[in-house]
Amino acid sequence: MSSVADRPLSSQAFERAKQLMPGGVNSPARAFGAVGGEPIFIEQAEGAYLIDVDGNRYLDYIGSWGPMILGHAYPPVIEALQHSIARGTSYGAPTPGENELAELIIELVPSVDKVRLVNSGTEATMSAIRLARGATGRDKILKFAGNYHGHVDSLLVAAGSAAATLAVPNSPGVTSGASTDTIVLEYNDAEALAAAFAQHGSEIAGVIFEPVCGNMGVVIPTTEFLTALRSLTREHGALLICDEVMTGFRLSPGGAQQLLGIEPDITTLGKIVGGGLPVGAYGGSAEIMGHILPEGKVFQAGTLSGNPLATAAGSTTLRTLRDNPPYERLEALTAQLEAGLNEAIQSTGVTANVARIGSMITLFFSEQPITDWSTAATCDIKRFAQYFWGMMDRGFYLPCSQYEAMFVSAAHTPEEIDATITAAREVLATL
Ligand code: PMP
Repeated sequence: MSSVADRPLSSQAFERAKQLMPGGVNSPARAFGAVGGEPIFIEQAEGAYLIDVDGNRYLDYIGSWGPMILGHAYPPVIEALQHSIARGTSYGAPTPGENELAELIIELVPSVDKVRLVNSGTEATMSAIRLARGATGRDKILKFAGNYHGHVDSLLVAAGSAAATLAVPNSPGVTSGASTDTIVLEYNDAEALAAAFAQHGSEIAGVIFEPVCGNMGVVIPTTEFLTALRSLTREHGALLICDEVMTGFRLSPGGAQQLLGIEPDITTLGKIVGGGLPVGAYGGSAEIMGHILPEGKVFQAGTLSGNPLATAAGSTTLRTLRDNPPYERLEALTAQLEAGLNEAIQSTGVTANVARIGSMITLFFSEQPITDWSTAATCDIKRFAQYFWGMMDRGFYLPCSQYEAMFVSAAHTPEEIDATITAAREVLATL
């Protein structure tokens, strides 16, 4: 497998890219900044594999950072796109395809009765907090450290994912005005939440949270935290915004809210909802969504929103997840990976632990379980970088940061999971 570490064409492409785009990339995590070394340029993807420009094949544990739950180039999605593309690529007018995707979202996600389609997860969360403020007439938004909700100014405070990885959780360019109305607390801290509501309850428009956090690695919420989120927001007239951009359609057909019994007022979606094309969505009760223009007064719009290619890929993906649910298979595959990684940690004596829920999993290089941003910060990120390159050079494509989740897709097989465990054991033994 030594050829996998040999990537001259990727190196050439990266040299050129750096002259063309900041850091050579269009989204910072892709630059591999946290793990050192150069990013790998991809030529093609099929099933559970990525193929780079040098012809190396990698077993993919990112799935485009979440969307590719059915695997890459899933034939029914490709067929739906081919059928759609022949009829034009954008009309800027309503289409039956938008009804179809909206119907599927409303059918699958328990708390959504009406939905608005946008073009990314960031647009979904940005619009959701505007809606929360518009609907309540209040200004403050409460979020949690290490949770990432896209690059919305007011939410780019103590942000997880690439913001945490690249040490800019609070970005230059975000005005103090944009962030003064953002309250930040530790994830899983029900007491701090109660204290914040005791102090600011009447000013809080909404609480936005990841129902399972994927953006500081996988962090699972406690029942106490989830209960406090719902009861305190209800008691104080604030809206609960469940950011299911990552967990939606991944942890169950109805997302984390269905799996964990959460009843949010507003849900944000992205990633899987577009089947690999740029789609986001936000939704809630008909009453709350009635505040959005042209029914209500809260402005939100988009030239390419509800794009026919995007709705074709999204609807085909959601229909497949509904009619042939892969969730039992994903659970079994990822449990197999979890058990194998735990066994490899034990046998090599490396200080690490594994967090998993459904097909989201993270190997944390820490001696303690990760429950919030303070504990996430205890991870040995140098060790992570060594582990990452050890796995990459063996043909396993992992997220390039300790603070991201790995995703298993329905295209993975038990044999491939076994091969991953064998490689992980080898790499851990070298650390
Ligand atoms: N919310 C969450 C929970 C996310 O994980 C992400 C992206 N990883 C976003 C919002 C932003 O989505 P996008 O990158 O599509 O703007």
